[in-house]
Amino acid sequence: MSVDGRRGRRLVADAVSARKRADVVAGLRGLARPARTRVNGAGGAPPSADVEICDLCGVTIAPDHRHLLHLVERRIVCACEACWAMRSGEGDYRPTGNRTLWLPDLELPDEVWAGFGIPIGLAFFMRSTVTECVVAMYPSPAGATESELHFESWSRMTELNPVLGDLEPDIEGLIVNRLSDPPMYAIAPIDRCYALAGAIKATWEGISGGTGVEHAVASFFEELRAEATGVSGS
Ligand SMILES: [Zn+2]
Ligand SMILES: [Zn+2]
Repeated sequence: MSVDGRRGRRLVADAVSARKRADVVAGLRGLARPARTRVNGAGGAPPSADVEICDLCGVTIAPDHRHLLHLVERRIVCACEACWAMRSGEGDYRPTGNRTLWLPDLELPDEVWAGFGIPIGLAFFMRSTVTECVVAMYPSPAGATESELHFESWSRMTELNPVLGDLEPDIEGLIVNRLSDPPMYAIAPIDRCYALAGAIKATWEGISGGTGVEHAVASFFEELRAEATGVSGS
């Protein structure tokens, strides 16, 4: 009896912690492909392939679909062409950025980087018009972690790299990968930034992330480089 009680409590505790984990990734919904909603037929039919659906109207969409940003909730929404066209700019929905700019000459001295207080060499930065500050997001075992940057550190960055002055608020991010040698930097649409966070979340193991994360990060940057619509020289 008491054993059952303990077991019951443990199950509840497990369910609660699972729920918390779910909350952490809610903002990344639809971006971590392996964790995508599965549609199973009733009566034990074999599970079908992962499908992508429009988060606004529910129709099935191609894997390569458009995204909208919910400005206030800072959430990426998968959209079909019709919803994307109709809802872009409506209320809090914004189309995500559409350029990927590779920045091989970005200047980011160690002391400026240290000033950001980010514990890992992988992060993205975005200017938020809602909170009127620059936000850094970086991966951790608990999911993507956000921190607001000191204004001086960011203005030092834009002094050194005027290209960052053109970073579109909300819809574009600066992606930084100082785990690689040489480091990689790019301005990318905000849904790509969140996709990186989602890929990391989906592959993270243990405390340090493991080799799954290393591979996910490496292939993300390969794809990003291939997508780049421009390279910013000095
Ligand atoms: Zn739709
Ligand atoms: Zn999507």
